[in-house]
Amino acid sequence: MSRPALPALNIADLQSLLRRREISPRNVLDALQARIEDVDPKVDAYLSIDFEAAAREAEKVDVDLPLGGVPIAIKDIINVAGQPCTCASKILRSYRAPYDATVIRKLRAAGAIPFGKTNMDEFAMGSSTENSSVKLTRNPWDLSRVPGGSSGGSAAAVAADAAFGGLGTDTGGSIRQPAALSGVVGVKPTYGRVSRFGLVAFASSLDQVGPLTKTVRDAALIMNAIAGHDAYDTTCLNEPVPDYTAALGRDLRGMRLGLPKEYMIEGIDPQVKAAVDAAIAQLQTLGAEIVDVSLPHTDYGIAVYYFLATAEASANLARFDGVRYGHRAENPRDLLDHYGRTREEGFGAEVKRRIILGTYALSSGYYDAYYLRAQKVRELIRQDFAKAFEKVDAIVSPTSPVPAFKLGERTADPLQMYLADIFTNTANLAGICGISLPCGFADVDGNRLPIGLQLLGKALDEARILQIAHAYEQSTDWHKARPPL
Ligand code: GLN
Repeated sequence: MSRPALPALNIADLQSLLRRREISPRNVLDALQARIEDVDPKVDAYLSIDFEAAAREAEKVDVDLPLGGVPIAIKDIINVAGQPCTCASKILRSYRAPYDATVIRKLRAAGAIPFGKTNMDEFAMGSSTENSSVKLTRNPWDLSRVPGGSSGGSAAAVAADAAFGGLGTDTGGSIRQPAALSGVVGVKPTYGRVSRFGLVAFASSLDQVGPLTKTVRDAALIMNAIAGHDAYDTTCLNEPVPDYTAALGRDLRGMRLGLPKEYMIEGIDPQVKAAVDAAIAQLQTLGAEIVDVSLPHTDYGIAVYYFLATAEASANLARFDGVRYGHRAENPRDLLDHYGRTREEGFGAEVKRRIILGTYALSSGYYDAYYLRAQKVRELIRQDFAKAFEKVDAIVSPTSPVPAFKLGERTADPLQMYLADIFTNTANLAGICGISLPCGFADVDGNRLPIGLQLLGKALDEARILQIAHAYEQSTDWHKARPPL
């Protein structure tokens, strides 16, 4: 029987061929390189690729490891030793990572090969990857549309079979939303589940690293590799890591899924609503019980998120001063001129907007009115989820209110762009885990655009949302669909 072309394989199938020695890691890299050369000129998912370093690793990798010989694409905000780490910003254009982030070290220990860096919104600020200072990434399902963001490069690469899997980061939805818009699986782990050592910080109380993959099983495999304690990240939880593949395949009988009444809002695209309703019916067929829940402070999510995320960003991005690394303005008159022009030249418009907003929210006289109040409402949002999880095992919702929008459609109006996060950023505020997986297609202008289903779980309950997602996925064919590239 003929096999599907190598780049179309998911990680689990690829790895079992490698383990059976039917193919070599070198075959895999060559096939992937050919695929990237074929489709990436159209999709533009990658910022840099190092096939030579990858080939050297492929020579010596142990294919019997869980991810042995599997190339993984990495969002360009995570340090991979020797490779560029630009955060898609001019200020880090010529920066190369001097060391591996902990997630990279762990991926390598599991046998994976981090071979290339993917495009993103500058410093992960955005929902469409259009804030990249380098280039636009296109949605493989419709090249006139965005792949979502900020991890749009990793999502588009996986969707286009130009990566077997990828890492992204999720501060307010940046793994789940591009997963939904590009038609792949994306997991935001619980706050503290995955180390951030070696991740360039955006909003430190919200950021998490997680996988983007073709299937739920693949996401579980990457979670197995990257989760766990790290002495280099004090926010990283010292809790045992379960085998995330262990519960895959169990049925959903007795599982209680919460449907928040606040999530089926006006303004949600009718085709998204129809697909999510059908997915909920399917979950019931599989044995889950649907329970109405309420998350009454949902309305404040966007405002709270944008106060806290910008405040934290303004502090984190202070380190880009042109002294220690990155872009440096030429011939400064004095130190202030040096700082001012370095940052003026190095940062893009959205990053500047956030630094200004965040600095304002933290400034004396305004701190109590904005930052402190936002922290209080964040606690109410956390309590909303805690109450809901007393009644249910997981919460189900759309990932994004709309399918992929057109390139340029929302760039003029930041508020419109911020609304893309309405269903995703409360999970970051509450510190819980979430997954997005394909649940159908919208028909728009004769194109099929993917729709994502979101499942949210309580802290450290990744295994359960993976189990539910897997049961749903295996009862549908959505994950088998491929974009018409
Ligand atoms: N879209 C959100 C923002 O612009 C989320 C970004 C993220 O999760 N990194 O901040």
